[in-house]
Amino acid sequence: MQIQAWPAQQAAQQQLLARPLQQQSQQLTDAVRSIIQAVKTEGDVALRRFSAEFDRVADNPLRLSAERQQQLISGLSDELKQAIETAYGNIRRFHAAQVPQDIELDTQPGVTCQLKYQAITSVGLYVPGGSAPLPSTVLMLGIPAQLAGCPRVVLVTPPGQPQAGDIAAEIVYAASLCGISEIYTLGGAQAIAALAYGTDTIVPVDKIFGPGNRYVTEAKQQVSQDARGAAIDMPAGPSEVLVIADDSANPVFVAADLLSQAEHGPDSQVVLVSPSEALLDAVVVELERQTALLPRGAIAEKALANSRLILTKDLASAALVSNLYAPEHLIIQTRDDEQLLGSLTNAASIFVGPFTPESAGDYASGTNHVLPTYGYSRNHSSLSLADFYRRYTVQKLTAAGMRALGPTIVKLAKAEGLDAHANAVLFRLDVLKSQASQE
Ligand code: NAD
Repeated sequence: MQIQAWPAQQAAQQQLLARPLQQQSQQLTDAVRSIIQAVKTEGDVALRRFSAEFDRVADNPLRLSAERQQQLISGLSDELKQAIETAYGNIRRFHAAQVPQDIELDTQPGVTCQLKYQAITSVGLYVPGGSAPLPSTVLMLGIPAQLAGCPRVVLVTPPGQPQAGDIAAEIVYAASLCGISEIYTLGGAQAIAALAYGTDTIVPVDKIFGPGNRYVTEAKQQVSQDARGAAIDMPAGPSEVLVIADDSANPVFVAADLLSQAEHGPDSQVVLVSPSEALLDAVVVELERQTALLPRGAIAEKALANSRLILTKDLASAALVSNLYAPEHLIIQTRDDEQLLGSLTNAASIFVGPFTPESAGDYASGTNHVLPTYGYSRNHSSLSLADFYRRYTVQKLTAAGMRALGPTIVKLAKAEGLDAHANAVLFRLDVLKSQASQE
């Protein structure tokens, strides 16, 4: 991998920080649009055809029966179950602290306003599984859905091992802890289309959550732009990490953190920014050594080809690079990490200090690992409990409240030229006036 100095020109900076996928977007948009259209018109027939084509599963049963769920769980080791339970406990504790509070207050005498939260009625959780089953994602999506009390929670994940049409036992166990039993063996854009529009087998949902590859992310964007589709959580696509490290960092840790993203898939991007050439050189050596030992080394190598090692003049400009890139994950391994933290904006999830690998947040510390990618962390947030509620308002004016506020509303409505709005108040004020004169 080549070390590049941070360029002075804006165009060169943007080119250096470009995400790998953006060039192919039109092709992707068209491919996903035709998958969604096929699911809308052909329903389950299209779902089975795409499972055969993309997942190599013939005659996908689509729904994972309760009996098969129990059989799969029974094959899991106690150690693995315990690890999933420990992660479940931490993630649940962190999300339980996020319960939003309803608000009720009088903005002036006789005018009461409320802000209320209600769990979304029906939610669909996409758990990636194309190249690796991700039970951790079940917890990240299933725990907030469970805490919010969403009445219907549906899980979809690509079909695979051990029998055609099965899914990983770890996913089924994590789902059972979250109280989820409606599971479909479906992946990719077709799974998103089925959740948004429904088929004979699947009743559509109101909101779709979860990360996925570029097909999944693009499908989520498309269904969310259709009024008859479904809402989505965020654009959470191929994973990415940016590490800021100085000469105090351990190159073994830095390389391991970069590779933990690179092994997700060839679409993933990793970026290391450092003012220390010696550190960058040492990380290059470590990357080669560690990649050769990884079972998913071939995938990681492809991702590394899209990656960047950037030399900056100091840590302040390293922070600037990070703010421009707006990474999904940001790891800081510097002498004074707390000070640097204050100058960082735009990252979705930040990991501070030598003993805080991204893996902690990916699996078990408690924070959510579903995060905006592609630079969307500039204006989108990490997934939280609030995403599983809809927020709405209630208001009530008493007669006294209407008498006091009415004239203000009339003036504003007239200023906007909306006479019917003014009348809705004036007619009431007239009634109140005549009632007062009769008393
Ligand atoms: P996936 O479940 O997202 O995608 C697999 C599905 O893609 C398959 O079921 C198949 O139907 C479809 N597909 C594959 N090739 C296709 C093609 N040529 N045309 C149409 N559809 C096709 O699993 P994955 O591929 O392993 O990707 C998981 C992704 O999720 C990774 O990119 C990872 O980085 C990302 N991720 C992101 C976050 C986050 O918070 N942003 C968290 C975890 C994982």
